[in-house]
Amino acid sequence: MSLAAYACDAAQSRGRRHAEPPAPTRTEYQRDRDRIVHSTAFRRLVYKTQVFLNHEGDLFRTRLTHSLEVAQLGRSVARSLRLNEDLVEAIALAHDLGHTPFGHAGQDALDDCMREHGGFEHNLQSLRVVDELEERYPAFNGLNLTFETREGILKHCSRANAQRLEAIEPGGVARRFLERTQPSLEAQLCNLADEIAYNAHDIDDGVRSGLITLDQLGEVDLFRTFHAQALAEHPRLQGRRVLYESIRRMLSAQVYDLIDATGAALRAAAPASADDARRAGPLVAFGDGMRTRSAALKGFLLRNLYRHPQVLAMTGQARQVVRELFDAYRAQPQQMPPDFAARENRARAVADYIAGMTDRFAMREHERLTGTRLLT
Ligand code: MG
Repeated sequence: MSLAAYACDAAQSRGRRHAEPPAPTRTEYQRDRDRIVHSTAFRRLVYKTQVFLNHEGDLFRTRLTHSLEVAQLGRSVARSLRLNEDLVEAIALAHDLGHTPFGHAGQDALDDCMREHGGFEHNLQSLRVVDELEERYPAFNGLNLTFETREGILKHCSRANAQRLEAIEPGGVARRFLERTQPSLEAQLCNLADEIAYNAHDIDDGVRSGLITLDQLGEVDLFRTFHAQALAEHPRLQGRRVLYESIRRMLSAQVYDLIDATGAALRAAAPASADDARRAGPLVAFGDGMRTRSAALKGFLLRNLYRHPQVLAMTGQARQVVRELFDAYRAQPQQMPPDFAARENRARAVADYIAGMTDRFAMREHERLTGTRLLT
C-alpha cells in the first residue's frame, strides 16, 4: 500500500548528521531499524526491567519484550493509517535505549545524583546512545540515524536541554520543543503504542505476580467491560485464559479506537505533507471516551501496582544501588573501563556508564564496590 501524503517518506528524509551513500536495497528507515537491532544498547534491553526486576521471574516483561510489543502495535496501526511502518518500527525499538537499570527508580536516582551536573533524563539519554555512545563505525560516534528516527526518540525534553541541543545542532531535533510543534505522526503513534503496551502488559505481569487481583481490576471500567464480555461469550473459561482474553479484547479496543479517532482527525486536518502534520497539533490520539478510560487504567496501575509495598521496597533498594555506584565511581574512576575513566566530564561519564548497565551487572558491581548485596 502506498504511503499517505502526511506520512514520512524515507526518500524525503532530512538525512543523517554524517552524510552516507544510500544502501542498495534498503530504505533509510529500514537501515535505521537494522542499526538499532544490531546495537549493544539494544541487546542489553533483555536484562533491563520496567516494573519487576529481571531475576524475579522469567515470565515478566523486560525492556526488550516491551519494545517489541510497542513495535508490533505501532506497525499495525501505521499500516491502517498508511503511515511509514519502517520508521515506526525504528523509533519503537529505540525508544527505551537510554533507560537505566531498575526502571524509573534507577532513572530518578541517577537524576538526583546528576542534579548539579545537568541532570539525567532517559529520553535524552536514548538520543545520546544513538548519537554518541554506540561505537560501531570508523568515521563517527553513534549510529548516525536519520533525523526522523532521532526526532521520534527524543519524546520529551526540558527547555534547558532543548536550548543546549539547539546550540549544538541548530534546527535539529530539539527545535520543536522551542517552537512547540509536534513530531512526525509516526513519532506520535509510538508514544501511544508505548502507553497501550505497558498498560496491558503491566496488568498481565501484575496479576501473574500476585500483586494485583482480578477482583481489584473490577474497579477499572476498561478492564471490567472486556472481562465481562469474555466471560459472557465463554462461560466456562478459567484461569489465565480469562486474563489473556480480557487483555486481548481491551488491547484491540484501544487499537481500533486509536485508528478510528486518528483517522477522523487526519481527515479533518487533511495535512498535505509530513511537515504540515507536524504543525497541525497532536493528531494521533484516542477518542474522548477511550482517553478517559485509559487514563483511569493508568491511575489504577499507579496506585495499586507501581506503589505496591513490594514494588516500593524494591525501588528503594534500587535507588540505593544507583546512588552508591555513582559515588563509588566518582571517587574511583579507575573502577570504570578506561574509556569512561579517561573522560573529562567525570559526572557525565559515570552517569553514561551506569545508565548502560543491565540490572544484574549493576547489582554485581554494587556488591564488588561496596561489599553489600542488595535486591537479591
Ligand atoms: Mg516504553
